Amino acid sequence: MIRTACSHCGRKIEAGDQYSGHTIACPKCEYPVVMPGEVRGPRPDSPTQMPRRERPNDARGWSVGDWLGIVFRVWLAVLVLGLIVGVPLALMMVAIHTGR
Ligand SMILES: [Zn+2]
Repeated sequence: MIRTACSHCGRKIEAGDQYSGHTIACPKCEYPVVMPGEVRGPRPDSPTQMPRRERPNDARGWSVGDWLGIVFRVWLAVLVLGLIVGVPLALMMVAIHTGR
């Protein structure tokens, strides 16, 4: 058992030895508290204290920002392609018209 105190609200916190060196959320104020000791192996799965919530993985799919990025890139590609194809085509048209 490791005992420490929240540096934010001062609440005493007890956690299993497997939490040494890990950061857990204070049960009272949820301030992240680093448990004293060295980290031993990977993070344990069954906590005796409320573990600090980790951000959910962004594997859920595309965010709006991703879509905006893709739309912008496609738009840019179309624009560049339009310039590459359109400018010579326009010049050709002008050449044909002036040639008559
Ligand atoms: Zn606290």
